[in-house]
Amino acid sequence: MAFQLSGSNLGTRENRLGSITGYVGDLEDLASQSKCGTLTGCSRCFSQSSTCLSGCALGQLGGIRDVAIIHHGPAGCSATASSQYIVTNQVAAKRGVVNSSVYIGTDMDENDTIFGSTDALAEIILEVNRRYHPKAIFVSSSCATGIIGEDIDSVVDEVKEAIPVPVIAVHCEGFKSRIWATGFDISDHAVLSGIVEPPRKKQNTINFKNFYESARNEIIEMFQNFDLEPVFLYANATVEELKHLSEAVATTCICGTLGNYLGNGLEEVYGVPYIRTINPLGITGFETWLREIGRVAGKQPQVERYIEEQRNIYIPQIEAVKKELKGLKAVLGMGPGYTFEVTRVLNELGIEVVWALAWHYDKRYENGEIPPAMSYLLENDINFEASVADQQNFEVMNILNKFRPDLYLSRHPGSTVWAIKQGTPAVYVADEYMIFGYKHTLEFAHAILDTIRNRSFEQNLAKRVKLPYTDWWYQQEVGKFLEEAIS
Ligand code: SF4
Repeated sequence: MAFQLSGSNLGTRENRLGSITGYVGDLEDLASQSKCGTLTGCSRCFSQSSTCLSGCALGQLGGIRDVAIIHHGPAGCSATASSQYIVTNQVAAKRGVVNSSVYIGTDMDENDTIFGSTDALAEIILEVNRRYHPKAIFVSSSCATGIIGEDIDSVVDEVKEAIPVPVIAVHCEGFKSRIWATGFDISDHAVLSGIVEPPRKKQNTINFKNFYESARNEIIEMFQNFDLEPVFLYANATVEELKHLSEAVATTCICGTLGNYLGNGLEEVYGVPYIRTINPLGITGFETWLREIGRVAGKQPQVERYIEEQRNIYIPQIEAVKKELKGLKAVLGMGPGYTFEVTRVLNELGIEVVWALAWHYDKRYENGEIPPAMSYLLENDINFEASVADQQNFEVMNILNKFRPDLYLSRHPGSTVWAIKQGTPAVYVADEYMIFGYKHTLEFAHAILDTIRNRSFEQNLAKRVKLPYTDWWYQQEVGKFLEEAIS
C-alpha cells in the first residue's frame, strides 16, 4: 500500500485491508477465502454494543508524554477521557515518570451541531496551547463533526502558524468503521504524518510498539545483549523520541493488529525494516521473532547465544508443565492480533483449541500478505473452528455452552466475566507480555494450571447467577445459529 502522509485522513480497515467482523467456519476456509479474494464478511441481524475507534486512537495518542488531546464532539464522546486519564497516570507512575498530557472535550451542543463551531475550536486550540504548553496537540473529530462536515483540517491549518509545536488533525468519526482497531492506524497516521521527521543519523534503537510497556526493564536488558536500545511506543514515549523513529534499526511490535500500520509506514517511507514475523509469544514465536531481529540488525551470533542460554533455563521447566496441560480443550476470544498467536502457543503447550473467535479479521496486512500468525497455523496444519465477531458475547456464550471447554481465554475482561458466571474457568490475558518469551510462557502455563485445578469458584458462581440466556438460545446449533444470525 502506498502511504499518503500528506493528508490527515486515511481509509478504514474495511477499505484498506478488506477487514471483516462477521464470519463462521474454520481457519482453513477463512484463509483460503482471504487468499482467493472471495472473503466478504457478513453483517448481523442482531448485534450487541461494540466499541468506538476513537478510544483506540486517542488512547494511544494520549499515552504520549505531555501532549494535548482536543476531542471535538459532544460531551459523551469524551467519556473515554476518564479511563484514559487513570491509565495514563498509572502507567507513568509505574515507570516513575510524570505524564502531563491533557484530554479536553469541546462539549458541542445542539447549536454547534446546527451552525458549526470551528471558530470556538480555533480558540480552544490556542487556549490549550497557552494554558498547558503541550509538546504536541492532537485535534480529533467525532461522529457529530463528521456528519455536519466540520472542517477541522482548515482550523488546524489556520492556528498552526501561531503554535510552536505540531498541531495535528485526527479523524475519529466512530461511524466510519466497525473495527475499533482502525483507531490504532489513525493514531499511527497522526504520528507518522505530523511528528516523525526524516532521519539525520542512524541510531542503535529498535521501535517497539506495545500497549503499556510492563516488561520494559527485562526487554531493555535483553536487547543490551545485542547492543540495541528499544524505544517503547506510545505509552510514556516523548514527542522527541517520536521525531526520531525514522532513525531506528528496525520496528517491531507485540501485536500485529497494533503495530502493522506504523511498521509498514516507517519501512515504506523511511526504509526502517519492519519485523514481519509471528509475534514473540510462546517458544516458536519468540525464537522466530528474535532471529529475524538478529538478521536485520546483523547480530545473529549474539542472538543464537542468548537463545541457547535461555533455552537451557526454561525449556525443561516448560516441558514439565506441558505434561499436566496435555489434552485440555480451550475456546478463546481476542483481537485477531492475539487470537491466532495464542492459538499457536496453546497448541505448543498441548492444549487443543476447539473454537477461536477473533473480534475482527484483517484479510491482508498493509504489505498485501495474510497475517503471519495465520500463515504459520496453516503451514503447520493447525486447523480449528473459528468465527469473527466484534465481541458479540451472546455468540461466545453459545459456543462455550456447546463445547464446555476446560478453559476460556480472552483479552477483554467483560468477556471472561460472563464465561466465569456460566461456570467456565477463564484466563484474562490482560497484560500484553503475559506470554512473551520463555519466562512468561512458563508463567502462562502455570496460570492455566492454577485456573483449571480448582474450579469451585466458577461452579459456585454459576449456581448462584441467573444469566439472561434462555435454554432455547443455548440449544441452537452453533454453526446454524451463527449462519442464521449472520446474513
Ligand atoms: S465518535 Fe461517534 S461512536 Fe465514537 S463515542 Fe462519539 S458518537 Fe459514539
